[in-house]
Amino acid sequence: MNRPQTVDSPAERAWQRARDILLAKLGQTAFDLGVKSLRLFATSDNAVQLVAPSPAAASWIQTHHPGALEDALRAAGLPAHVDILGEGRSQGELFPGEPTAAKRARMRFGTLVPRYTFESFVVGGSNQFAHAACKAVAMQPGNHYNPLFLYGGVGLGKTHLANAIGHETLERQSQARIAYLSAETFMTQLINALRRDRMDEFKGMFRKIDVLILDDVQFLANRERTQEEFFHTFNALHEQRHQIVLTSDKVPKDITGLEERLRNRFEWGLIADIQPPDMETRVAILEKKAEIEGLDLSRDVAVFLASHIDSNVRELEGSLTRLSAVASLSKTPITVDFARTVLKDLLRDRRTITIEAIQASVCDHYGIRIGDLLSQKRTRDIVGPRQVAMYLARKLTTSSYPAIGERFGNRDHSTVIHGFTTVTQKLAEDGALRSAIEQIEHRLQGKS
Ligand code: ADP
Ligand code: MG
Repeated sequence: MNRPQTVDSPAERAWQRARDILLAKLGQTAFDLGVKSLRLFATSDNAVQLVAPSPAAASWIQTHHPGALEDALRAAGLPAHVDILGEGRSQGELFPGEPTAAKRARMRFGTLVPRYTFESFVVGGSNQFAHAACKAVAMQPGNHYNPLFLYGGVGLGKTHLANAIGHETLERQSQARIAYLSAETFMTQLINALRRDRMDEFKGMFRKIDVLILDDVQFLANRERTQEEFFHTFNALHEQRHQIVLTSDKVPKDITGLEERLRNRFEWGLIADIQPPDMETRVAILEKKAEIEGLDLSRDVAVFLASHIDSNVRELEGSLTRLSAVASLSKTPITVDFARTVLKDLLRDRRTITIEAIQASVCDHYGIRIGDLLSQKRTRDIVGPRQVAMYLARKLTTSSYPAIGERFGNRDHSTVIHGFTTVTQKLAEDGALRSAIEQIEHRLQGKS
């Protein structure tokens, strides 16, 4: 995590852009209620941390306009993963958010997302093993699989299941102390504790947890100090047979930059994968979501959406949200034809923009050869365009960082992240780069 050093840092300026977008989108009242008081605390390649003056202020925007903050951050060139820390913490709590009142006393760290429960999770062939493992853990934490290590691609339900374990445990065991946080937040808290010379407190608190859920542990890669501290936390909890749940986009052995002793421990318990959902499961997920939101969605339309959007559940849900918003604004019933019209742009973009198309357009624009773009050459005239191509691949396709790395001459995902961040930061200052990227994007989208 980097703390923005000055008010005028690129991160701070990007955050200002995100605020402007939110103001335009939500209107002044909602902005004043939920956004105005948020301050940028830190950013990294993968996440943004904001601070709110109170736990209530921290959760308002996510509760009332789910997804809006993420969309604005992405549009402003910041990572869309966000943690909001509510200040005004009571003793013994590092960063309480605002879980429901009854649970608040028992929840030690972080906030569970209210709608990520087992009830709202659709089980299909692609996730039934992971689902069963999570259920077993929630029924008897510490007794079955310890740690439980969930892995799978972006938007396939890892965070949802991890939260569901938290909810279910809180329902069943009134005294259980649960912590749910991203690996990134763990790191930031560690840094804060070190800076304030409060390591004893940090250690004490984490070791008293009954169920520790650490989301996206791949972020621990190459963070040696954080890995060391987590190693000790892990051991302390495991010895007491307290439950540890980890999620990651890869299996432990594929997380480069992870210490052997941690990798080894991650493999002690059960490793469960989540695969992309099949057609039937995608339809069921859409119907469940429509039911939860009280939306009238016919089977035909659900099948239409599910057959066109097969990458990940987050996109699937996004398409439904977009459809229902346009339908309610235009007071039109949701038919297949209507869905086709509304989603036309989305579907066309998705179908035509491939990593190969991006690479070709970038080479075309800069007058370089594809072979050079994918080679190991590190001269400036190649590195710049290569980073632009990586940036666009991340922005315009649904491919993960590792998947993009593979298509760029088998580079490591950290190289892709670095390219993406570099371009994002330069974009704020470099008008020529902005217009080059705009031109390439327009051409890719068939607009010019
Ligand atoms: P990940 O953490 O794996 O990137 P998330 O858990 O954030 O993915 O899931 C992305 C979105 O898709 C969330 O809104 C989640 O509720 C939804 N989702 C994923 N899988 C399912 C499922 N099987 N049933 C219902 N919703 C799902
Ligand atoms: Mg997740």
